[in-house]
Amino acid sequence: MVWKTLLMRRTGQHKRPVFPTLKEGQLALTWIGHASFLLQFNDLNALFDPNFANWLFLLKRVKRAGMKIEDLPPIDLVLLTHAHFDHFHKPTLRKLPSPKLAVMPWGMGDLARGLGFERIIELKWWETLTHGDLRVTLTPSKHWGARTLRDAHRGFGGFVVEHQGRSVYHAGDTAYSEGFKEIGKRCKPEIALLPIGAYMPDELRRVHMGPDEAIKVFKDLGSKWFVPMHYGTFRLSFENMDEPPRWLNELAHQNGITRHVRMLVEGVPAIF
Ligand SMILES: [Zn+2]
Ligand SMILES: [Zn+2]
Repeated sequence: MVWKTLLMRRTGQHKRPVFPTLKEGQLALTWIGHASFLLQFNDLNALFDPNFANWLFLLKRVKRAGMKIEDLPPIDLVLLTHAHFDHFHKPTLRKLPSPKLAVMPWGMGDLARGLGFERIIELKWWETLTHGDLRVTLTPSKHWGARTLRDAHRGFGGFVVEHQGRSVYHAGDTAYSEGFKEIGKRCKPEIALLPIGAYMPDELRRVHMGPDEAIKVFKDLGSKWFVPMHYGTFRLSFENMDEPPRWLNELAHQNGITRHVRMLVEGVPAIF
């Protein structure tokens, strides 16, 4: 699997992003690739799980990041869902432009020290960080937190970010569980960023999900927008790289929700 990827030519282009001018109450999401997103309001720039790596050890990035790290605006807030190498990428974090605050699940703070953050905050599930009308809540997920062999104490989860009357949910890595109904009930996230890749072979579904289960999650949440992620960038599993978005499209048709699925193009800001 690794060798096949080594020989694959890397696709995709860095774009020089044209960031929109946002009005109060508008937000823009730019997919960087994999689980990485830039979330912008007119007074806030936040990143989810930023990773601009071309290599994760021997694992090759098969599609370029949608933009260069140098083209990021100054970052107020960095949200890190868990310590796995495809989500918590130290070389990327070290290079972020003046990152002020990093928020992450319990047991991860030591990894973030010395990377340039002004402040590091750890949350437990359902804990909320508030700052003015900004609310960041750590939500449960069905996954695991260990980065290496001896650090099973590290937490994991997803984030709901609420600001200016809008809300965005990044699920992190997760399998399907009944728990999403509770996230829907408590947080009613309007925009759901949901992973749809890394589900083959079947055992991976204990910690990840495919488009079929992600659609169930979307319904459980009661969200308005479904933005798929965690596919097409790193080959972490055995499904074909282009299968997750294709299958999601089919299922969206069958379920009559095509209008609600927004597949972002890496490096192109989408206004919501
Ligand atoms: Zn993970
Ligand atoms: Zn992952």
